[in-house]
Amino acid sequence: CGIVGYIGDDQAKDILIQGLKKLEYRGYDSAGIALLEESGVDFYKEKGRISALEEAIDDNAAGNIGIGHTRWATHGVPSRQNAHPHQSRNKRFTLVHNGVIENYRKLKEKYLSEVDLNSETDTEVIVQLIEHFTNQGKTTEESFRQTLSLLHGSYAIALLDNEDKETIYVGKNKSPLLIGVGKGENVVASDTMAMLSVTKDFLEIMDEEVVLVTKNSVQIKQLDGTTVDRNTFTTDIDE
Ligand code: GLU
Repeated sequence: CGIVGYIGDDQAKDILIQGLKKLEYRGYDSAGIALLEESGVDFYKEKGRISALEEAIDDNAAGNIGIGHTRWATHGVPSRQNAHPHQSRNKRFTLVHNGVIENYRKLKEKYLSEVDLNSETDTEVIVQLIEHFTNQGKTTEESFRQTLSLLHGSYAIALLDNEDKETIYVGKNKSPLLIGVGKGENVVASDTMAMLSVTKDFLEIMDEEVVLVTKNSVQIKQLDGTTVDRNTFTTDIDE
């Protein structure tokens, strides 16, 4: 299980697939990617290995921003339906998650009693909550921080917003996550190994931090919105 995300000028698809293959050792039963394009978001998911996903992806699939996931099921059987990415009801938000949300049933009852879920996962509640808070007039960043502050459990999350094609929203608590800082491109993943084709410069992310990642910037914040300053470190590991 693990996540990966890319934003830059290259084709996200290739970097995501390559990254997911490096994460396969962490466990897999299904995998998926989402690509954000001018026309909207496109996603592909398959049960089984990353190579099965790779075969399922359209040759013409394009996009310079994307997120990917390799799943090790904790809630809901391994299936295409339960594979990530998961999408909000209004299809505006697309999300991948590594970890376990312990209070997802309570959150569903409290905030989403009217919402029919598409999957059996604990993860889907996260993306539906983000939609719920934006429907109340909050920005994506506010809704993301508010949602994460309600979660009990572990997560490394990457989120795409159809209405903001320049940002990957990232969050972390008790699941591994790093940001790879490139030149005019940035990458996020559960493990540095998945990012070495893009960069060797990384930013460590702490628990209960969110990160707003664009092509040219990485902004770290705490869940209350306070900005965090942090320096990158460089690794000399080879691919
Ligand atoms: N708990 C989530 C699920 O079962 C994520 C599992 C994972 O980390 O791969 O879908």
